[in-house]
Amino acid sequence: MREVFTGNFTQQEPIPPEAIDAAVAVMRSGRLHRYNVGPGETGEAALLEQEFAAMTGAKYCLAVASGGYAMGCALRAVGVAPGDRVLTNAFTLAPVPGAIASVGAVPVFVGVTGGLVIDLDDLAAKADQADVLMLSHMRGHIVDMDALMALCAARGLTVIEDCAHTMGGAWAGVPSGRHGRVACYSTQTYKHVNSGEGGFLITDDAEVMARAVILSGSYMLFDRHLAAPGAEVFERVKYDTPNVSGRMDNLRAAILRPQLRNLSDQVAAWNARYRVVEDGLRGTPGLTLIERPEAEGFVGSSIQFLLSGWREARVGEVLRRCAARGVELKWFGGAEPAGFTSRYDSWRYAPSAPMPETDRILRGLVDMRLPLTFDLEDCALIARIVSGEVSVVHQSAE
Ligand SMILES: *Cc1c(COP(=O)(O)O)cnc(C)c1O
Repeated sequence: MREVFTGNFTQQEPIPPEAIDAAVAVMRSGRLHRYNVGPGETGEAALLEQEFAAMTGAKYCLAVASGGYAMGCALRAVGVAPGDRVLTNAFTLAPVPGAIASVGAVPVFVGVTGGLVIDLDDLAAKADQADVLMLSHMRGHIVDMDALMALCAARGLTVIEDCAHTMGGAWAGVPSGRHGRVACYSTQTYKHVNSGEGGFLITDDAEVMARAVILSGSYMLFDRHLAAPGAEVFERVKYDTPNVSGRMDNLRAAILRPQLRNLSDQVAAWNARYRVVEDGLRGTPGLTLIERPEAEGFVGSSIQFLLSGWREARVGEVLRRCAARGVELKWFGGAEPAGFTSRYDSWRYAPSAPMPETDRILRGLVDMRLPLTFDLEDCALIARIVSGEVSVVHQSAE
């Protein structure tokens, strides 16, 4: 019998009842704006920041309108100015170079390895071109952070981490986002917690956080934050920092607080699904899995594999055959960007010298989401379908 999968790859779980109740309470109060609090009252946004700071171990946290906003805000807060060059990953999502472009800076792309992390040799070769690295942990693959931080310290690079896919992850036990000067997270529907849109920025640097709070649109109400530095730090920056409005509201914050409390269980649930798919794909001829390093605490909210050296038409054939059986794969190697599968040569506003090794890897790169609405049997079925179709197409090529 030819098995078909009928699940939906973009269907997330419902918002938990506790979060819905908290959201309804905010709506009943009418006080959705984060600074619209009664006497002695602490708003949901301020509490959320305090809880995310505690969860990650950061001194300071700011909740904002999106992950992309957090990245632009972080770049401004560390002093990136128009015309500056900023290093970033060639393999990432469009909002990352977009955040760099949003401050008038120029992305300089660094290649990807077969392990889907930033190529440290290429980073070393390009380090003298910029003062800042916007490091994207794309699809949750974490580079050797000890090696990366040593390199960046030696070369005077400030690191901002894009943790859109690593909220809840870690490197050698250190939470993802705690290595660089600043880290940015997304709480958008397709990430690890879901408020529709939203983001966080964390740092231990008091001045960076004071600037970020003012940038986000705090006016002079920064004393209502619970995870920000003292008033004396704001005194130093408040007249020189523009308001680039991008606040989080109390409604989204209310939805997020119960989800954060549940994050470690969600991570375990994702990783159980990931391991079932990975086990089911292992040994498929022509298919290379991305082996996860021992030190990497990853969150398996998606899985990638390589069809290295395959001709384009053959990869297309695999995608079509899997789609016909209900399995939605994304391919980063297509000539034209489709859906979310953009890569550095799709961003023509930021031209880059070609990177043949990166191109070779991306040409074979296939990606699949693993929403928590799939159970372990779904995952085993998906793996049987992908493995079967890859095998059929691979054999017919021999
Ligand atoms: C989603 C995403 C972002 C941006 O997050 P938004 O909240 O959608 O702005 C940044 N980087 C990566 C790798 C992402 O996947």
